[in-house]
Amino acid sequence: MSQIDDLPPLRAVIETHGIAAKKSLGQNFLLDLNLTAKIARMAGDLKGSDILEIGPGPGGLTRGLLAEGARRVLAIEKDARCIAALEEIADAYPGRLEVVNGDALEIDVAGRLQAPIRIAANLPYNIGTELLVRWLSPPDWPPFWESLTLMFQREVAQRIVAQPGDKAYGRLALLVHWRCDARIVMDLPPEAFSPPPKVSSAVVHLTALPAPRYPADAAMLNRVVATAFNQRRKMLRSALKPLGPDVEDHLRAVGIPPTARAEEIGLEQFCALTRSLTP
Ligand code: SAM
Repeated sequence: MSQIDDLPPLRAVIETHGIAAKKSLGQNFLLDLNLTAKIARMAGDLKGSDILEIGPGPGGLTRGLLAEGARRVLAIEKDARCIAALEEIADAYPGRLEVVNGDALEIDVAGRLQAPIRIAANLPYNIGTELLVRWLSPPDWPPFWESLTLMFQREVAQRIVAQPGDKAYGRLALLVHWRCDARIVMDLPPEAFSPPPKVSSAVVHLTALPAPRYPADAAMLNRVVATAFNQRRKMLRSALKPLGPDVEDHLRAVGIPPTARAEEIGLEQFCALTRSLTP
C-alpha cells in the first residue's frame, strides 16, 4: 500500500493522543488512509476548492483531502482530545488546515471559507441528518456550497436517493431532489470502521443545482410534503385535510387523483400542488 503522507499511521495517532472511540460522540473512525483518499477524490475538484469538514476525529479523511490537493480545509471537531492530533496535520500542510474545536451545530462558518466551497465528512450519525437538512434548507438558492460528500448509515443514504414507489421514498428524497443531484458513490461494510458500527454505511455525493427543478415556495413545499408523508398510507384527500377544506379541489386541479398516496407522487406534482395551495 502506498503512503499518502509522511505522518504516523492513524492507529499510532490514536494511541499517542489517547483518542479511544466514544459512542456518545458517534465515533467510528476510518483508519485506512487509502480509503480516505478515495473518498476525498469523490468530493470533486479539490485543488480549486475550499473544504468544510465536520467531525475530523483523528484526521483520516482530513489527511485524504489534503493529500489529494484541497486548497484549504476548515475542520470542526467537538472532541478536544482530537485537536493536538489535528494540529500535527496542520503543521505538515502549512496554511491549508484550520482546526476549530466546537459543535458543528452551533458554529457559523460564513466568511471563513472562499468559494467554491465543498463539504466532505464522515459524519457523526446522531447529527448527520440534521446537518444535511440545514444545508439543504437555506432561504436562498444556490447555497454557499457546491457539493456535499457525506457518509451516512446505508438506510439513510437510501432515503436520500429514493425515487417515488421506493420503500425509502419520502420527505428527505423530495427535499434533496428539488434542488440537488444525488447519488450513492460508495458502500462500506461495518469492518471499514474502528470500532465497527452495527450497520452498513454509504457515501452520498450531492451537487447543488443552480436553481430548483420546479418553482415552489420552500416553506409551503416543506409543509405539503410533511403533511402528506405524516400519514403515508392514507389517501391524499384524507392525509392533506390539515391543509384546508378544499384540498381535494387543488389535487384535482393539478391532476393528482385524490385517492393516490404520498409515496406514489413525484416531485413535479408536489411542486404543482404547492403552487396551487400557495395563497
Ligand atoms: N472523520 C473521522 C474519520 O473518518 O475517522 C471521524 C468520524 S466519526 C464517525 C465522527 C466525528 O464527529 C468524531 O470525531 C466526533 O467526535 C465528531 N463529532 C460528533 N459530534 C460533533 C459535533 N456536534 N460537532 C463536530 N464534531 C462532532
